[in-house]
Amino acid sequence: MRTIRPSSSLANVKYEIRGDLARRANEMERLGYDIVPLNIGNPGVFGFRTPETMRLAMIENLKASEAYSHQKGIFPAREAIVMQQQSRGVRGVTVDEVFMGNGVSELIDLVLRALLSTDDEVLVPSPDYPLWTAAVNLNRGRAVHYSCRPENGFQPDPQEMESLITSRTRAIVVINPNNPTGAVYSRAVLEGIAQLAERHHLVVFSDEIYDQILYDDAEFIPMATLVQDTLCATLSGLSKVYRACGYRVGWAAFSGDVEPAREYLAALDKLSSLRLCSNVPGQWAVQTALGGYQSIHELTRPGGRLFQSRQAILEGVRNSKYLQIHTPMGAIYGFVGVKEGVLPDFDDQRFAMDLLEHKHVLIAPGTSFNAPYKTHFRITNLPDAEVIAEVFQRMEEVCDSYLSD
Ligand code: PLP
Repeated sequence: MRTIRPSSSLANVKYEIRGDLARRANEMERLGYDIVPLNIGNPGVFGFRTPETMRLAMIENLKASEAYSHQKGIFPAREAIVMQQQSRGVRGVTVDEVFMGNGVSELIDLVLRALLSTDDEVLVPSPDYPLWTAAVNLNRGRAVHYSCRPENGFQPDPQEMESLITSRTRAIVVINPNNPTGAVYSRAVLEGIAQLAERHHLVVFSDEIYDQILYDDAEFIPMATLVQDTLCATLSGLSKVYRACGYRVGWAAFSGDVEPAREYLAALDKLSSLRLCSNVPGQWAVQTALGGYQSIHELTRPGGRLFQSRQAILEGVRNSKYLQIHTPMGAIYGFVGVKEGVLPDFDDQRFAMDLLEHKHVLIAPGTSFNAPYKTHFRITNLPDAEVIAEVFQRMEEVCDSYLSD
């Protein structure tokens, strides 16, 4: 029998969040088990709703959505993004520099594909949202990981980042607020990154999809307000802040020193044309989303549902004999680690599988996010606080079982 082989370009591409563990969880669900899906930040699964005004905006424009739109997206959506950037103090963005995509996911691929030639390097955080590493590899580049260490509160170190730059480095990826760690980067760190990008003429890709999901007194600083002398792409979308993952709406807004990047932007325009346009109905929700009431703050302030469930993660860790965490200040995850020395042979993948098989909870191991250590895992704080408390109980039992093995 002749086998049909996949492209060798995928050999290096991994995206384990929907990999073997998730497949096993699906299988178990089919067998009738109730699985708690803490592996994906998908608000709709946990009863979060997209603001009704956005749904209505989309419904009202369904007729206008029957045709392809411009490859960069519909004008009102891109104008709304320009207005948001301008109101945040980002200078020089016009509708020409805004590209709509089928989620930030599609744009991560497109912005890299338009930039990279074989063996070009991109600085990517470790841990990262793994699509970034995957998309660099898929587009023939090399992801060079810079560390965001637990002992530094998962903040990157611009000096260390600079030491990784070579003549092949083309871009730096920043994810802020961060997935998976929940870190919100300080002004000093962001300024350091902006300066080194400018010194070395690197493109900055700033993934800010969690820009308004902040806890306590966390301050979000848009990268584009700090980058003047090189090209900066701000990537964001409707999936998280507006709880509309299924609408598949994201955007990339370019700012900074745009003129020397005209050929690059033309290449991105060409790639956008090849896929004709992104999902049109969803684009009609953007102006209402960005220009309307920002209901996300009701969820993140004390007493709000996301705040309470994030507190439940902190509480679960506090009560655990085994676990520790650096308090997440943004996004919708806890990146939990094992305390030093308590479980010497801890392996994140094995723990995730044990938790799934024996306790029916699906989590994402830290190594799936390109972390170089096996001591961490990510859970989302999207379920209610009571569910999270119950999950921590089950995790404790699995850890207990390791000591009695
Ligand atoms: N970037 C980050 C940091 C994410 O966490 C996600 C989804 O979880 C995405 C991008 C992709 O989002 P979407 O394609 O739904 O816009």
